[in-house]
Amino acid sequence: MKQSYEISQEVQARLASLQHLLLDGRWQTASDGAVTSVFDPSSGRQISEAAAASEADAELAIAAARRSFDNASWTGLTPSARAKVLWRVADLLEEHGDEIAELEMLDAGKPYVGARHGEIPFAADCFRYYAGWCTKIEGSTKQLSTVPDQDFHIYTLREPVGVAALIVPWNGPLVQAAWKIAPALAAGCSVIVKPATQTPLSTVRLGELLIEAGIPDGVFNILLGSGRMVGDYLARHPGVDKVSFTGSTEVGKNIISAAKGNLKKVSLELGGKSPMIVFDDANLDEAISGAANAIFSNAGQVCVAGSRLYVQDTVYDRVVQGIAKIAQQMRVGPAYDVDSDMGPLISKAHLQDVKKHIEKGIAEGATIVAGGELLQNHTGYFLQPTVCVGVNHSMSLVKEEIFGPVLVCMPFSNTDDISAMANDSEFGLAASIWTRDIGKAHKTAAAIRAGIVWINTHGVPDMAVPFGGYKQSGWGRENGYESLLQYTELKSVVTKL
Ligand code: NAP
Ligand code: MG
Repeated sequence: MKQSYEISQEVQARLASLQHLLLDGRWQTASDGAVTSVFDPSSGRQISEAAAASEADAELAIAAARRSFDNASWTGLTPSARAKVLWRVADLLEEHGDEIAELEMLDAGKPYVGARHGEIPFAADCFRYYAGWCTKIEGSTKQLSTVPDQDFHIYTLREPVGVAALIVPWNGPLVQAAWKIAPALAAGCSVIVKPATQTPLSTVRLGELLIEAGIPDGVFNILLGSGRMVGDYLARHPGVDKVSFTGSTEVGKNIISAAKGNLKKVSLELGGKSPMIVFDDANLDEAISGAANAIFSNAGQVCVAGSRLYVQDTVYDRVVQGIAKIAQQMRVGPAYDVDSDMGPLISKAHLQDVKKHIEKGIAEGATIVAGGELLQNHTGYFLQPTVCVGVNHSMSLVKEEIFGPVLVCMPFSNTDDISAMANDSEFGLAASIWTRDIGKAHKTAAAIRAGIVWINTHGVPDMAVPFGGYKQSGWGRENGYESLLQYTELKSVVTKL
């Protein structure tokens, strides 16, 4: 097996050229010529440059999307024809999987094997899943319940919401973009995608694949550039009917304020501080490896990361020691090193932010039983997988989303109190429960206030299974039919016969 992944000539050529905006079916530079640098988090080196859209470019993208929607360039096709385009995107993603995995590895620091065998098929499956829905968007018939002595024919229609702005974070650039693009297009929307400034590469490649698959001009547009400027502009603009955002809770709240001008529809997939509850009757080996995977996968930069661990006191030491041992044995290194179990964090600023969280936790009394240090033998942004004990619910380490490979562990003795502890958070995105007792498992699942609860596993994603936030973890759901519905409006038609 190769020790290190070699960058293909194809990808080298792609990096050497500017990453363009996609406006009305044409690849463009920013109207004012502005660019931003794209960095490889494994090396800290600049690897490419991307156009940085201005408000004038955002205006062009919105106008193109609006025109294509109002002209029915996309909705005028049969549902079957639209499904074929989405299905073709999935085929193309797989056909070019090696190359796109390289882009994801270089741009987001995702270890190659995971990107190639996880992100690529998952993004392709997302397009196939929603390709299937194109031909199955239906209304229903209704009966009037109160009007006497008259005949009516009443039905509902699901119609696309219109122009959708899709604002995507850096932690899963391809998959998170797919989770928004595929349902929005399946519903018949025209879209504008704004990837994170740090990670434009796979979105640009996806744009090329959508064109190759036959998406009409103006239906799919890409704006690269600053969220604070161009993202906010999209969220404010009266020509945009819907904004779907994934990212921080803080920016999610800004989006709500920005969107209120035209009361555009808003869905938000925000942060989490997801609890994992291990009862003493669990299969502990599975709980230990499952919990380690739940917090260290993608270096903890996952919205549903299992970042708070509660273990029944009789097995607490064994579980925490087991996870700490895995953390100590993990090989942390560049995403292109095939031996790396865990890659870098996304940026120097984020690395420093995560380190500050750990330092504050120590100052407040936490003890580190694994990791806690930056890796100095690389130029990229590496942190050891970190396990903390001696923490409580008054500490920021337990309360705040860190979005890094940092686990806090707490014992519990009273099983009646555990769901209250797990729910003691402003977030409510996900949770996992580890037990062999089926009654305990489902009773606890019912008591947890979170959008998804896993039992004896954590983080299993599937296109058919909706997930999203209770409380400050967001509005609405991604994946499943439920996500599709969020890109539609419901119309009732009432006919007097
Ligand atoms: P972020 O600022 O919320 O960024 C997410 C996306 O929103 C990016 O495309 C960003 O563009 C854009 N954006 C930023 N400010 C905006 C605004 N005012 N209006 C519209 N769009 C805006 O997240 P981050 O700064 O990259 O990460 C910060 C924290 O967010 C993380 O540490 C983590 O806690 C959380 N987070 C959660 C998720 C999740 O999956 N739920 C994902 C990523 C981050 P720019 O890239 O140009 O800023
Ligand atoms: Mg940001």
